[in-house]
Amino acid sequence: MRGIVWFRRDLRLNDQPALTAACESCSEVIPLFVFDEPLLQSHVFGSACANFMLGCLEDLAASLASRGITLQWRRGEPVEEVVHVARAWKADVVYWNRDYEPAAIERDRTVQQQLAQIGVVVRTFKDHVVFEAEEVRSATGEPMQRYSAYRARWWMKWQAMQPTTLPVPRLLTAEKAVSLPAPPPLPSASDLGYEPVTLWIEPGERIAQKRLRRFVEGPIHTYITGRNLPAVDGSSILSPHFRFGTLSARAAVHAALASLAQGRRVSRPDVFIWIDELVWREFFQQVLAAFPRVVDEPFRQVLAPAPRAPGTERDRLYQAWREGKTGFPIVDAGMRQLNQTGWMHNRVRMIVASFLIKDLRIDWQSGERYFMQRLIDADVAANNGNWQWCASTGTDAMQGYRIFNPLLQSKKFDPKGEYLRKYVPELAAVPTDQIHAPYLMTHEDQALAKCRIGIDYPSPIVDHRQARDEYLALGKLQRTR
Ligand SMILES: Cc1cc2nc3c(=O)[nH]c(=O)nc-3n(C[C@H](O)[C@H](O)[C@H](O)COP(=O)(O)OP(=O)(O)OC[C@H]3O[C@@H](n4cnc5c(N)ncnc54)[C@H](O)[C@@H]3O)c2cc1C
Repeated sequence: MRGIVWFRRDLRLNDQPALTAACESCSEVIPLFVFDEPLLQSHVFGSACANFMLGCLEDLAASLASRGITLQWRRGEPVEEVVHVARAWKADVVYWNRDYEPAAIERDRTVQQQLAQIGVVVRTFKDHVVFEAEEVRSATGEPMQRYSAYRARWWMKWQAMQPTTLPVPRLLTAEKAVSLPAPPPLPSASDLGYEPVTLWIEPGERIAQKRLRRFVEGPIHTYITGRNLPAVDGSSILSPHFRFGTLSARAAVHAALASLAQGRRVSRPDVFIWIDELVWREFFQQVLAAFPRVVDEPFRQVLAPAPRAPGTERDRLYQAWREGKTGFPIVDAGMRQLNQTGWMHNRVRMIVASFLIKDLRIDWQSGERYFMQRLIDADVAANNGNWQWCASTGTDAMQGYRIFNPLLQSKKFDPKGEYLRKYVPELAAVPTDQIHAPYLMTHEDQALAKCRIGIDYPSPIVDHRQARDEYLALGKLQRTR
């Protein structure tokens, strides 16, 4: 029997259910990746993400080659390409791991129908999450809207099922290889229409495993504090690996739990809070699967002021936000980190999102789109879920009246201004007690710090207190503090 394994967001050999099943059932296995031309053309995601994906594919191709197997690739409309190669290569079965984005579900349904018409069987597997949406439901069988309730059920399910991980298939050897014309080398970013970028986070399965090992040996045990400090390497920085599946969530949970039995400086609360973040990831995946309308609209209508009307003022504010020139150092550092590296620290993502929506009164969808185009870990479920959380429109979102104060957040989470100085070099010589609000410096202080406000570094584009009061008043929102 001849099987094609269609790789998508699962670019690894370890714990790969579709690949394992193909190796167990088929005498011949052809690994395939399809560059989705319409998706590439739409530029929904940007260069950082595209470069990372290409790096992961290079690594996957090398791992397969070391076992005597060639990664085949195609570029085009995925339905046409998969059906075409299944026919041309005389495949009996096509294997893939499921994807929960509405567009992907639709695509997969069409491929499956067309393959059935030519007599090719499809076998699909759970992979991208530990538990799929239908596996974690409320007592009445409904999709869950509260994270805390979801989390409790997720853990009950974990205890009951004790999910395990799969090794690299033992049978994945040259004996399974099919003699086909060798594919050309994988395309470069420029071939795909994207800028080549130097990746700040290295791609590939081996790197993901190394990063996970390093994280569970140390930083995970101080995660509760470390995760909030943008100047510190306190979180795992594995999100692009989860996005492209160079690491499975199951393997990550197991590694975290196993770390509790190692070493002396072990912290159970920190480890469980980190696993909770993986549960948040699954929570948003199940929200997307159960309520696909969130891609196009708010999950719930909330009392909130209408976003600022289109026009030059809105464009000016939006541009300043995108470029990191708002005059609020923590917002600017975050946006510049995003523009320079394709990544932004989670705490700062929340601050810049709150600032865009509530201080600038710009629609959250504009922020969501910009993040998708810039983030190396751009993921529809996580991005949409978090933007809706910040906009207070999401399933389990922050209260509408809650507005992050950029000054207080900056002082609390980057007390020495290290993160600010790294990404906003104009502020390098500003003393620590003034760096969070440089607009309060006197002319003398500005001269000493070689940073003239309004010339070397922008004046604040809004008055935070006034913007906050306006937002609350326009939205008729109750202030509780
Ligand atoms: C406005 C906004 C937009 C975001 N967009 C994305 C996105 O497009 N892609 C993305 O992966 N994450 C997104 N996040 C969530 C979060 O910022 C990143 O997952 C996290 O910063 C990645 O860093 P890490 O790998 O070090 O995470 P860790 O703190 O080490 O957490 C481990 C893993 O848990 C998951 N995770 C952590 N926090 C969240 C969260 N709030 N929501 C969902 N999953 C989470 C990630 O897969 C992460 O790698 C967004 C957050 C905000 C506030």
